[in-house]
Amino acid sequence: MTRADTPIDQPTLLKIFVSGELDGATRHYEKYLGDMDGVYLNEKAWKAAVQNEGGGSLVYFVDEHKYQDGPGALIIGTSTVLPGIYGDEFAVTRGHLHAISDRAELYYCLSGRGVMLLDTVDGDTAAIELAAGQAVNVPGQWLHRSVNVGDEPFVTLFCYSADAGQDYAIIAEAGGMKTLVVTEGSGRWTTIPNPRHRGYRQAVA
Ligand code: MN
Repeated sequence: MTRADTPIDQPTLLKIFVSGELDGATRHYEKYLGDMDGVYLNEKAWKAAVQNEGGGSLVYFVDEHKYQDGPGALIIGTSTVLPGIYGDEFAVTRGHLHAISDRAELYYCLSGRGVMLLDTVDGDTAAIELAAGQAVNVPGQWLHRSVNVGDEPFVTLFCYSADAGQDYAIIAEAGGMKTLVVTEGSGRWTTIPNPRHRGYRQAVA
C-alpha cells in the first residue's frame, strides 16, 4: 500500500494506574478461579477453593488498548493477578506462546511482587522476579505466564505486536509449563519441576 491509501491511525492518550486500571482501554476481560481447570497441580486444593468461592472468585483481569490488528501496530495494556496459593502454587495466569511465535513482549511491573515464568518449546526455562519499576523484555519463542508471589495484586504493563495472537492450548497439551512456582513460606518462592509436564509440541509459526 502507498502512503496515500493507508489510513492513518490516531494517537490516543492512555492513563495507566498502578492499581491496574487503564483509562482508554478498548477491551477488558476477567478470569475466574473456575476457569483455571487443569492449571494447578494440586487439583484437590484448586477444587476446594472453587467450591469455597462458588467458582466466582476473580483471579486476574486484563485491560488493553488496540487501535488495529495489522502488523506494526501495538497492543498496550495492564494485567492484574490477584494474590492466592492453591496447594503450594502461587496464583498464575493461563500463559501462552504467541501464535506468531517470534513476537516479543515487554512486561513492566507497576505494583506488587511477581515472577514472569518462561519456557521455550525446546526445554529452556527461566523465572524472573519483578517488583515495581522492573521489567522483562520477553523475546520471541518464549512461552510466558505471570505469577503473583506476593500478598497484594501483581500489576504489569505489557506491550506487544497487535498481530501476535495467543496459543494457550500449547501449555494445556503439555500438561502445564515445565516448572511450578511454589511457596517456601515466609514470603519466599522457588521453582520445582512440574511432574505432569511432558514437553511441548513444536510451534507452527
Ligand atoms: Mn504474550
